[in-house]
Amino acid sequence: ASPFAAVDMAPRDPILGITEAFNADKNPNKVNLGVGVYYDDNGKVPLLECVKKSEAQLMEKATPRTYLPIEGLAAYDKAVQELVFGADSAIVQEKRAVTAQALGGTGALKLGADFLKRFAPESQVWISDPSWENHRALFESAGFKVNNYPYYDPATRGVNFAGMLSALKEMPKGSIVVLHACCHNPTGADLTDDQWTDVIKVVSERGLIPFLDMAYQGFGDGIDEDGKVVRRFAETGGAMFVSNSFSKSFSLYGERVGALSIVATSAEEAARVLSQLKRVIRTNYSNPPTHGGQVVATALSTPELRKVWEDELAGMRVRIREMRKALVSKLKEKAPSHDFDFVIKQRGMFSYSGLTKEQVGRLRDEFSIYAVDTGRICVAALNSRNIDAVVDAIAKVL
Ligand code: PLP
Repeated sequence: ASPFAAVDMAPRDPILGITEAFNADKNPNKVNLGVGVYYDDNGKVPLLECVKKSEAQLMEKATPRTYLPIEGLAAYDKAVQELVFGADSAIVQEKRAVTAQALGGTGALKLGADFLKRFAPESQVWISDPSWENHRALFESAGFKVNNYPYYDPATRGVNFAGMLSALKEMPKGSIVVLHACCHNPTGADLTDDQWTDVIKVVSERGLIPFLDMAYQGFGDGIDEDGKVVRRFAETGGAMFVSNSFSKSFSLYGERVGALSIVATSAEEAARVLSQLKRVIRTNYSNPPTHGGQVVATALSTPELRKVWEDELAGMRVRIREMRKALVSKLKEKAPSHDFDFVIKQRGMFSYSGLTKEQVGRLRDEFSIYAVDTGRICVAALNSRNIDAVVDAIAKVL
């Protein structure tokens, strides 16, 4: 018998399934709002100018492709730390943070999960309800039991903050809490500064391990504004994990550029942590690829290119906000009895639109507009040419 005789078919990825159905749809006016990617106003994934310029610079002084250090390119790791924690941050100065280049945000989460399983094997992991669909699978595959804390409140279309806080207060010491630093995926609902104050207090008083996932820095209110939560956690002086990704902010999805930073309580502890993190990396993929890390390091550390990047990122952020506003004002016209104002308050690429599974089904079957069954739409896939059709269709299925 074949060794694969007992291998079951794994369930299809629900979001990739949407894209497959979209690709097969022959309607020329089809729209895919199910994606997790930023499209420009022409409906294209942009190739950023800062990336082209960094690449041109790198091509000029072409270098051989030797192995990178296990933890990645030093210039990249340094640039990431300064971006995530702030160049003047005490933890960077005191060398309490270690950063390793990772294969996107996903790779960073997996490194953190594998590291934690070695040194906090009894802990359980808590993720928001709902969360990015890969959080659960990823921590479970590292061997953790994964629980949900309350997060989204469909009644207010915001955060069930009382529920979240009381769940945090009941978690056993040493629990690992995965928090979206900004631009919550899938809901778009973020905590306010005051709510973060309460979360930070409970997490540090109860000795929980915060794991901040920041996949959308710069897509909410600005690079520094979005990174503020990480800095506020860092100020408590406790241990923490931060995964960040440049997939979206540099439109470098396929290059797999992200990083894991672990903050320890002293430089001496950080050195030990790095030595163990390197073992996790070594036994997974040995060391990261060169290209994407070099592109990002060059763009972040060359002042002219940095400026180009910041402007391009601001352009993406502003366009998403404009699409939010346009969606709300056009829906006000076409469906005046429904209140969509909450869409403007949401941050990042996504919106939990409040559309039901049935309504999403009708959008797909009758109008070739594809969204996630949960009602999640990617606002960054709206543009000046498709928005009217989307609004008309939504108004008809409401
Ligand atoms: N974390 C969150 C919350 C995300 O939404 C994503 C991507 O969609 C990731 C992590 C993974 O990012 P990457 O594509 O860089 O692996």
